[in-house]
Amino acid sequence: MDKIKIDTIIRSRRKTIALVVTRDATLVIRAPFHTPTEYIEGIVNKNSRWIQQKMAQVVSKPPKKEFVNGEGLLFLGKTYRLQVIPGSADNIELRDKIYVSEGALPFIDHLLAQWYRNQASKKIRERCAWYAKKTGYEPRSIRITNARKRWGSCGSKGTLNFSWRLVLAPLEIIDYVIVHELVHLDQPNHSKLFWNKLRIILPDYEKRKNWLKDNEKLLETY
Ligand SMILES: [Zn+2]
Repeated sequence: MDKIKIDTIIRSRRKTIALVVTRDATLVIRAPFHTPTEYIEGIVNKNSRWIQQKMAQVVSKPPKKEFVNGEGLLFLGKTYRLQVIPGSADNIELRDKIYVSEGALPFIDHLLAQWYRNQASKKIRERCAWYAKKTGYEPRSIRITNARKRWGSCGSKGTLNFSWRLVLAPLEIIDYVIVHELVHLDQPNHSKLFWNKLRIILPDYEKRKNWLKDNEKLLETY
């Protein structure tokens, strides 16, 4: 089993330790000052079953985004906190957090989708070029779509389509969808030969495919 990752430990004057699974399925610990980190990790271990159940609940039915300060936003599989800063500029900046000006808040969902779309376009084209070179399967063109659930598809004329929402997922998952569609250029159907060819390029593709299936709701909430 994977070790549970603690997102943040907030130490304060409180007397007890609280484990909180947030709306974005991360684990936040509230603890008294001077609580040793090893002690907190011990408690997390002891409660790992409960924490994983809670996380699974959120992942299977994630709440809609509210775009408020401190909210977690996914990018390449990592959760970044949204930080609202004063000002009216309508750009979005990714550093240790995702920074958004106050003035942009009324259209934040639109702006953020556009930002994700630009990032996805860059990342997907870059990875696709790399795998095209490696495998010899060359798409005629690449299109970034707004699809939910249909992460990738292969048109009859050699165009590959990818949803921008993929850029929320870890890179190895994006790579899986890219390689999957590249192999379709050679093998249109999900035949045994198709999966065999895919396995030669990505021997652990099944793990990646399952991740996508288990977490697809997380990528749809935007
Ligand atoms: Zn397919």
